[in-house]
Amino acid sequence: MLKNGHRIKKIGILTSGGDGPGMNAAIRSVVRCALNNGLEADGIMRGYAGLIDGDIVAMNHRSVSNIVNRGGTILKTARSKEFATVEGREKAALILRSRGIDALVVIGGDGSYRGAARLYEEHGFPAIGLPGTIDNDIHGTDETIGCHTAVNTALEAMDKIRDTAHSMERIFIIEVMGNRSGYIAVEVALGAGAEDVIVPERGFDYQLMGERIREGYKNGKISYMIVVAEGAAKAGEVAGKVTAMTGLETRSVVLGHIQRGGIPTGQDRILATRLGAAAVNLLLDGQYGKAVGMVRDDIQVTDLKDATSKEYVHLDEFIRLVQMLT
Ligand code: ADP
Repeated sequence: MLKNGHRIKKIGILTSGGDGPGMNAAIRSVVRCALNNGLEADGIMRGYAGLIDGDIVAMNHRSVSNIVNRGGTILKTARSKEFATVEGREKAALILRSRGIDALVVIGGDGSYRGAARLYEEHGFPAIGLPGTIDNDIHGTDETIGCHTAVNTALEAMDKIRDTAHSMERIFIIEVMGNRSGYIAVEVALGAGAEDVIVPERGFDYQLMGERIREGYKNGKISYMIVVAEGAAKAGEVAGKVTAMTGLETRSVVLGHIQRGGIPTGQDRILATRLGAAAVNLLLDGQYGKAVGMVRDDIQVTDLKDATSKEYVHLDEFIRLVQMLT
């Protein structure tokens, strides 16, 4: 037990894997909750890569001023092959201990969670995970930090594409982010009123899509929007298939990294802030090796090792709705 009554005296915080809007709000919450509870807080730059390099800075209240509404992450993020090895994690644990850091808060996706879980299992190092990914694909939380903003950003772009698709009477294939997750694709397809959606988790009947487009064309429906998640197919390939099947002109658009950035929505900021506070509370409570999430608007605590990737619960319902509303 330390002087301040807690076993933990100094918390290290890092962001890891893909960045997402709202990570800064989470950093602010963790840092200020730690400081206001008599703990110290260190920021670790560039995720596990910066940790292994010892790229660590002390943080105070002012270090996190003016960031609650900023996209990206002030701590930067990276991927680290070294940390994925036993030796890399041994080095990381040594550095943490040599800097007097007693616990680690990791904001990232399921890969980052696996890393944090191993650090806890192999070295008994107190670690807590916060779900920070636009893919919304983590167990133990209804939503992840950043997913809400990413959907809204993609929707804004889709609305602009709709204007031209409608005016030019063209078929547009729009590729959105999601290597293994169709979350953004189905949300965007439903919200933007697209005609079809292709996701990595499900097979797709291109023949049937061609027939639907031909049928619609006969009935005077000449503009189309088809959303495809990047992990399912490339927009250009889908466009080629549609043209080959229907003889109609197509355009393909890749939304790309615009979906990762931007001002976080209210939901993402509030989620990040609540989860940041919950993470510090867990550490104060002596609960380690956990991930915090939000389920039905309540804080949910899961073992880090169980908080792996999950499929979006509304996937099939949304695909059916998109196709039914054509
Ligand atoms: P995300 O956290 O967004 O899913 P990654 O999958 O790239 O992103 O993971 C981020 C980092 O977490 C990796 O660069 C690696 O250092 C670490 N990591 C990922 N998977 C593992 C694993 N199975 N064991 C240990 N560390 C891992």
